[in-house]
Amino acid sequence: MPVTHKILLLSTKERVELIDITKSVEEFVGKQAIKDGFCLVYAPHATAAIIANENEPGLIGDIIKEIEKEFPRNAKWEHNRIDNNAAAHLASSFIGASRVFPIIGGKLERGTWQNIFLVELDGPRNNRRVIIQVMGE
Ligand code: ZN
Repeated sequence: MPVTHKILLLSTKERVELIDITKSVEEFVGKQAIKDGFCLVYAPHATAAIIANENEPGLIGDIIKEIEKEFPRNAKWEHNRIDNNAAAHLASSFIGASRVFPIIGGKLERGTWQNIFLVELDGPRNNRRVIIQVMGE
């Protein structure tokens, strides 16, 4: 069963930011010979996450606002004694560093309002990676 992958390299500009990577993921899936299988989208970082939702500016602002509300940067987190980014680690832990999508008939399946985003939680960073791994037949 073929397994292929691609690594996206991304720079982020804000402390908390959503970067739409849908096009890159779908282009990679479209180039594979796989008709039916899975596509893993994974951020190998402790302070970033992957989500699938609507690319609408108001909603993106709401998501960022909610992350900052649930995981306030200046709360008395123990990890802040080490490198002052506990909020980013917590948000990554609870949101999750990966999502899996079905590939059916050679196409990545997602809802109309489910774009795929890297969520930066401790930016700006120059070297964020997203691994796209596709498996199927
Ligand atoms: Zn840390």
